[in-house]
Amino acid sequence: MDRERLLDLREETEDKLKSLELGRHPKAPELDDRFDEANQRLESILIGDISEWVGRFYRQRYQRRMNGEREEPLCKCQNPRCVLKRGELPYGLRRRGSAIRDSRTTGRERLATYLDGHPEAVVIDEALERQEELATEVSREFRDIQRAINQAVDDVVNDNVETVSIL
Ligand SMILES: [Zn+2]
Repeated sequence: MDRERLLDLREETEDKLKSLELGRHPKAPELDDRFDEANQRLESILIGDISEWVGRFYRQRYQRRMNGEREEPLCKCQNPRCVLKRGELPYGLRRRGSAIRDSRTTGRERLATYLDGHPEAVVIDEALERQEELATEVSREFRDIQRAINQAVDDVVNDNVETVSIL
């Protein structure tokens, strides 16, 4: 799910929602809440720097590993001093303003570059996969909300038709 598509989907949903609110539709507040929730999820994975999200994901997984809830190592490389095994994010992925974080590259590109040099870092792969899953879930939710809005609009139209036919 690419970022532009997701942002478009959010905008479309927001526009539809606005027209529903203008019509003071009784379902508007409920759909507005759903939209806010989906939007928060979108922001957590797509807005801002993906390295931050990956950092949070990594710390969670590291905790699980330390608590014995995870058997698989976070990185499968041979280096016993690998930072990923010690609960630290590699320098290039955590340091703000360093060369690797320059504005010409996106967080995702930096992660890809990192994986090129350290392909055994399974936890980073997992983080990127999870982000992709969450993006798909959020896009599905936006589409569901749009369908619910269309339905709500149709209900109003049908109500009006009935009123007219009674008159
Ligand atoms: Zn490693």
